Amino acid sequence: MERLHQTLHDVLQSIENAAKLAGRPRSVKLLAVSKTRPAEAVRDLASAGQLAFGENYVQEGVAKVQALAGLGLEWHLIGHLQSNKCREVAEHFDWVESVDRAKLVDALDRARPESLPPLNVLVQVNVDGEAGKSGCRPEDVPALADRVAASPRLRLRGLMSIPEPHPDPGHRRDSFRRLKALYDAVAARHPGVDTLSMGMSEDFDLAIAEGSTLVRVGTALFGARGQ
Ligand SMILES: *Cc1c(COP(=O)(O)O)cnc(C)c1O
Repeated sequence: MERLHQTLHDVLQSIENAAKLAGRPRSVKLLAVSKTRPAEAVRDLASAGQLAFGENYVQEGVAKVQALAGLGLEWHLIGHLQSNKCREVAEHFDWVESVDRAKLVDALDRARPESLPPLNVLVQVNVDGEAGKSGCRPEDVPALADRVAASPRLRLRGLMSIPEPHPDPGHRRDSFRRLKALYDAVAARHPGVDTLSMGMSEDFDLAIAEGSTLVRVGTALFGARGQ
């Protein structure tokens, strides 16, 4: 327990250092990626004040949302989403970061219960054009963002991407820059847009330097994931 709290403190410190270096103190939020980790690890981090968590798999995520209801946590779906899972996601999550096609926009909008606030949505972009990877094409971002913004039960908040895990930091920096440019164009059209989700354990410093406002961190917090 002690150790996880210390690690959280260290990661938050690194994020804040990078934000200060970028001239944007206190502007970057940590999403703790809790996929494959037990609900008890989430509860432990929550007791240290970390309230935003990311899950990749709908079944696993919903189980944790239900097990930890009442703690005031904010849950983000960050994994690939199938349209037949949209109802379950719209009923349990606060954010979906992986919206990459019109069909998902419409299904989530239809399924978001009236008793809940609008679902926060990020459009996921396949910024490096990798084959077989989730995310819309960069040229499809404006239309998809407009569609989210026009959906009454959704709230467009910004963009998300998982750039190609290229060994050359220059290559990754270039991916982050292209995503930031797409984000700026969306933000100019839609006043409520405030979230650019980019950067993971390996590269959140670089992502923050290029404009990230939300970093998704798993391994650096919890250690390596098992099989
Ligand atoms: C697993 C995952 C992360 C966290 O990756 P780490 O390298 O463990 O920090 C971030 N974003 C997405 C979409 C993921 O699937």
